Amino acid sequence: MDHFTLIDGALHCERVPLARIAADVGTPVYVYSTATLQRHARVFREGLADAGPVHLAYAIKANPNIGVLNVLAREGYGADVVSGGELSRALAVGMAAADVVFSGVGKTDAELVAALEARIGQFNLELEEEGVVLAALAAARGLRAPAVLRVNPDVDAGTHAKISTGKRDNKFGVPIHEAPAMFARLSKLDGLDLKGVAIHIGSQLADLSPLEAAYKRVGELVAELRAAGHVIRRVDLGGGLGVPYRDSDVIPSPADFGAMVARTTKGWDVELMFEPGRVIAGNAGVLLTAVIWVKPGVTNPYVIVDAAMNDLARPAMYDAWHDFRAVLPTGERMLANIAGPVCETGDTFAMDREIDVVKRGDLGIFRTAGAYGATMASTYNSRALVPEVLVDGDRFAVVADRIPAETILAAERVPDWL
Ligand SMILES: *Cc1c(COP(=O)(O)O)cnc(C)c1O
Repeated sequence: MDHFTLIDGALHCERVPLARIAADVGTPVYVYSTATLQRHARVFREGLADAGPVHLAYAIKANPNIGVLNVLAREGYGADVVSGGELSRALAVGMAAADVVFSGVGKTDAELVAALEARIGQFNLELEEEGVVLAALAAARGLRAPAVLRVNPDVDAGTHAKISTGKRDNKFGVPIHEAPAMFARLSKLDGLDLKGVAIHIGSQLADLSPLEAAYKRVGELVAELRAAGHVIRRVDLGGGLGVPYRDSDVIPSPADFGAMVARTTKGWDVELMFEPGRVIAGNAGVLLTAVIWVKPGVTNPYVIVDAAMNDLARPAMYDAWHDFRAVLPTGERMLANIAGPVCETGDTFAMDREIDVVKRGDLGIFRTAGAYGATMASTYNSRALVPEVLVDGDRFAVVADRIPAETILAAERVPDWL
């Protein structure tokens, strides 16, 4: 459910007409709904009501805007961070360091030290050597780093290959069969407080069975580790729950997910950690764009919009589908291709798509763009960096400025030998 609806024939975000945002801020622009973010944060939490003590760490990489993070911090969410930059964002919005999880396969020493000094609550170790280095960095500061070992359960998440992370050949985690021996060695290190294990098998999961299979393997691992005398207090079950991108998508709800978690983790007697990203932010945002041309094509016309693959990379990167809607729909429909201005054929949002009729100058939105949208934006083709707006009821604020091409040009230098 979201808060992008027609009111008196015009698309609104909550009670703000999208046309007003376009007039004030220009296009392309991302627009986020506070009410949708809050709703998703609450529905996800409520879904896990029967799963015992849970910690919720929003995966910042899905949408790192500090306006968005502020809303989620107020909902009691911590953060899953994958870089020093994301750690700074979590702390800047006042998320408790104890609720911050540091994931990622390539944390540098400088990032580990920054996170140690911030006293974050959980390091997710991706390889044994990382645990050894972290323990030494912590011990040198008189600290013990709270950590869990990320295991790779060798489960096919059934999602796009580029966002699948739990197969044996993926770069993430340690092979689950090697985890007991590794856990035994790491748990002896003074600088490490090894509390348990973590998994995250992929993103945009449309089926609970791979998750359930992975969780069962983790349950067996926990039992094995306990039998070997280890105290296991925490299990991090990652993120990955999908969202509907089109009306025909059937995705398990957070309540279905929570019921599966409660069933699968019954008797584990641990604190559970979750790292939801897309399910919180995906449907809370749209990319608002204007039609530059409707160009005749061989089979269908090309609707050329002012948003492009540099603003929303998912179609070019993952062949992703984003619904397109006119901001002022006439009720008529047309068959069209939708593309941006970037000089690549990959800069195409839709082919042979039945869409609302639009013409030059009209506004439209790409839906479900709140996650992995603005955060992946670039300035490719020397385009501006896309701005972001947060709506709350009948008010809105620009929460990230458009960074114009001139500003980016001004940060470059010609060497003095030229
Ligand atoms: C990306 C990521 C997430 C969030 O995934 P979603 O599919 O957005 O829920 C959670 N944990 C880790 C380790 C990740 O890399």
